[in-house]
Amino acid sequence: MQFKLLPLDYSYDALAPHIGASTVEIHYSKHHKGYLDKLEKAIGDTKLADEDLEDIVCKTEGSTFNNAAQVWNHDFYWKCMTPKGGGDPKGEVAGALKRDFGSVDDFRQKFAEAARSEFGSGWAWLVHDNGKLKVRSTTDAENPLIYEQTPVLTIDVWEHAYYLDYQNERAKYVKTFIDHLINWDFVASNLANARG
Ligand code: FE
Repeated sequence: MQFKLLPLDYSYDALAPHIGASTVEIHYSKHHKGYLDKLEKAIGDTKLADEDLEDIVCKTEGSTFNNAAQVWNHDFYWKCMTPKGGGDPKGEVAGALKRDFGSVDDFRQKFAEAARSEFGSGWAWLVHDNGKLKVRSTTDAENPLIYEQTPVLTIDVWEHAYYLDYQNERAKYVKTFIDHLINWDFVASNLANARG
């Protein structure tokens, strides 16, 4: 099995006070690692183990899919945040958001609404789809790759992502993520790759 837990680009306490060290540590070293361990157990001795994680996500179903997608989603989620993130995007990203949502604020509202209203566990995403940016949510482990949409930004709205810091107040976590944590440089590189 070739997959490793992708190292975090920051320390466990780097996102505080917005997301506390305990949340990041448990989320990364227990939940994220748990998905990886289960994936390894499921496919470690099979031909699938030699494939890219993205291909495994697109080819599998059931619990193998759930664990593979959750590994992919979390690898991506950690990179979507940075200490002192948030604020306004620049350049190409700002232009693309204005083009497809009307304004950056309209995008923020749409993304927040998708994150707040996903019922139960899931994810909200900004995706690149046929030359356009769109906001969507997915349930449980589901990943937009299976709909041939390229993820550009995501927020994890499983309770394990915010409960220690925000308890039941998902909306506050979502607002904080948008205002203080989004890694716009990562978004810009995803957008550039998606456009090819
Ligand atoms: Fe999570």
